[in-house]
Amino acid sequence: MPHVIEPATSGRAKCRGCGEKIAKDELRFGEVTENPYGDGDRTLWFHPVCGAYKRPESFIEAMAATLVEDGSVADLEAIETPAARGETIAWLRDQSRVGLNHPLLPRIDGAGRAPTGRAHCRSCREPIDKDDWRIGLVYYDEGYFSPSGFIHVGCWRGYFEGEDVERTGVEGDGERTAGERAAGESLEAGMVLERVAHFSPALTPTDLAEIDGGLRSS
Ligand SMILES: [Zn+2]
Ligand SMILES: [Zn+2]
Repeated sequence: MPHVIEPATSGRAKCRGCGEKIAKDELRFGEVTENPYGDGDRTLWFHPVCGAYKRPESFIEAMAATLVEDGSVADLEAIETPAARGETIAWLRDQSRVGLNHPLLPRIDGAGRAPTGRAHCRSCREPIDKDDWRIGLVYYDEGYFSPSGFIHVGCWRGYFEGEDVERTGVEGDGERTAGERAAGESLEAGMVLERVAHFSPALTPTDLAEIDGGLRSS
């Protein structure tokens, strides 16, 4: 079965990406995967933005399938994006592409101050000082995201741009323009900040300004 984007038929499902409920009738993204515990497929639900951030390859496939098969472009345009901003299909597609081109980027799971000085940065391997801002990471395996450490805010560039992975073709992604391609390939501090803000909604504007300063000074 292909991945889907459709209105939620109930308000019971929780988003795999952020842990919050997906409201009834709100659009949801369903990633269809093989059930590791038995026969057949299962569907893992996400808010569209959470899917674009954390499961970019499947999300692009879902967008392609949805747009082609039932033409629900208008529905997709109504998705609330963090850019509150930009509310566009193009925005979601760009976020997915940036994630595809920077395979560690979808691991971002927010940010916080280090409660102790014991954790080591996954990028530079140095300790993260107590009370320093750190970006939290998760690792995806068979439908579940598990905590997988932290990086210094200032280490984002080396960590997320460190891997230059040759991209294989993604279904439905063949007709992008040069401008769209560029949007999917350059990583900017602001993109990291948006992901951090999305997955740590409790951060205050002051917190975000401090994190932003750390991102931009690196
Ligand atoms: Zn979510
Ligand atoms: Zn570091």
